[in-house]
Amino acid sequence: MNLKKMIKAAAFATVTLVIGIAVIVVIKTLNHTPPSFSDVARANIQLDEAQLAANLAAAIRFKTVSFQASEGKENQEFSNLINWIIATYPKLNQALELKLVNQSMLYKWQGANAALKPILITGHYDVVPVIPGSEAKWQQPPFSGNIIDGVIWGRGALDDKSGVVGILQAVTYLLEQGFQPQRSVYLSFGHDEEIGGRNGAGAITALLREQGVQLAWSLDEGSFVFDGIFPGLETLMASINVAEKGSTTLDIVATAPGGHSSMPPQKNAVSDLAEAITKLQDNPVPGGLSGLSTVMFDNVSRYMPFTMRGLFANQWLFGPVIDRQLSASATTNAMLRTTTAPTMLSASVKTNVLPIEAIATVNFRIHPRDNVQSIEDYVTALVASDTISVRARGGINASAVSDWRAKGYTDIAQSMREVYGDIAVAPGLMIAGSDSKHYGQVADDAYRFNPFVLAAEDLTGFHGTNEKISVANFAQGVRGYIQIIRNGSEE
Ligand SMILES: [Zn+2]
Repeated sequence: MNLKKMIKAAAFATVTLVIGIAVIVVIKTLNHTPPSFSDVARANIQLDEAQLAANLAAAIRFKTVSFQASEGKENQEFSNLINWIIATYPKLNQALELKLVNQSMLYKWQGANAALKPILITGHYDVVPVIPGSEAKWQQPPFSGNIIDGVIWGRGALDDKSGVVGILQAVTYLLEQGFQPQRSVYLSFGHDEEIGGRNGAGAITALLREQGVQLAWSLDEGSFVFDGIFPGLETLMASINVAEKGSTTLDIVATAPGGHSSMPPQKNAVSDLAEAITKLQDNPVPGGLSGLSTVMFDNVSRYMPFTMRGLFANQWLFGPVIDRQLSASATTNAMLRTTTAPTMLSASVKTNVLPIEAIATVNFRIHPRDNVQSIEDYVTALVASDTISVRARGGINASAVSDWRAKGYTDIAQSMREVYGDIAVAPGLMIAGSDSKHYGQVADDAYRFNPFVLAAEDLTGFHGTNEKISVANFAQGVRGYIQIIRNGSEE
C-alpha cells in the first residue's frame, strides 16, 4: 500500500469511528427517557381546605421554640400544643393509643395483621427561634398564623408543623373513611428535633427497641417535591432522601518557635497554616458519581432537555465532563462528596508577637462512602508535616443508605404519582440532619421526605424569614400523606 492509500484508509477508519460513536450517543440519548406512569390513577380526595389551613395556623401560634441553651424554652407552650392536638383531633385520639415520651407524642394505630412489621410516620413540632432583629423583615408576624390570599404564614409552616398537622389530618381523613390499616402505623411528633432530638426521637427509639418493635420503614421530614430547584429540570420532582450526611470537625494546628514580629523568619505558623488550608481547598475529598448519586442523576436526567439527557445517557463517554460540571456547583457538589469548609481561625494574641500556634477549624460533611476516621486519615496524609498536625474534635458518621427498591420507597413514589401525576421521583441524599438518625436504628429503611411542593423562593423560609405555605399546597401534601399511609400500611 502506498502512503496516499494508507492515509486514505486511516481517515476512513477515523470517520467511521466518529460516526459510530455519534450513532451510539444518539441512540442511547433517545432511549434515556422517563418510565411511563400514565396508567397511574389520580387519587380523588375531597378535603375541607379552609379547615386544614385553620388548623395549621392554630398550631403555628404556639411558640414551641427550641433554643440551643435550655433556659429560653417556654414549657407551657409545648404542653398547650399537646393539649390542642388532643382536643382538635378527637377521632384520632379515640382510635389510636397515645404515649407521651417527655414532650414528644407517640401514637399507635393497631394494624389488622400483627404479623406484619409496622411503619412510622413522623414529624417534629418544635421550631427554630426567629433571629433577633429580623422580626421586621417578616411580612406577617412569625407566630401570627395569619392566612392571607391563600397563604399560611409563620414559623413552622414548612419546618415542620405542616408535617405534624398534615399527618394528623391525613389519619383523621382515613378514620372518617373507615380505613383499617393492615400494618400497625406509628405516628410520632418530636419536641426537640432542632436541638438534636435526644429526648424526643431518641427516647422514642429507645422505647420501641425496648418493646422489641422493628419497623419496616419510617418516614420523616427531609426533602420535598421540588419545583424548579433542580437545575435543568422542568417537571416536578419528588426527591425522597434515603440517607443523611454525617459531620466531623478537625483542627489543623501549625506550630512554630514564635518571637518578635520585627525580625520574622521566611515562614511562620500562620503562613504554614495558610498553605495547609490552600492544600485542603485544592484537594477536595474524592467523590463523584457512584451508587446513590448515579441512581439519582440517572432518574432525574431522563426528564431533562436533549443535551443534558445525552450527557447522562452516555456516562461511559462524558463521565469526566459530568463530574466537573456537578462539582462546580455547591448544591450538586455536596451530593457527590464529603465537603470541606474551613470555618474558624486563631493565631497570635498580639499584633507584634509571632504565633507559636495557629489553628484552622475545618468542618466536613461526610458522604456515606466515607467516615469520621477516613476523613481524619485523608486530611492527615494531605497536610501533616513537622510543623502541621491534625486534631480531631469528634463527629458523627453518615447514616446507612436505605433501599430505594424496597416496598416502602415504591409505596411513597406511587403515592406521589397518584397525587401529583406523572412527576419525576428519585432517591436523594440529605445534606442536613433529622430525627431519622434516631428512628433509623429501629427501621429496616428510613426515608426523609415531606409530600409538599417546595419552590426556590421558599428556601429562604427555612430557619430564616417569611416562612409560609399556600393553602392549596398544604392540602396537596395532606393528600400525599393520606396515600402514603393508605399504600404503605398494606401488606
Ligand atoms: Zn425540621
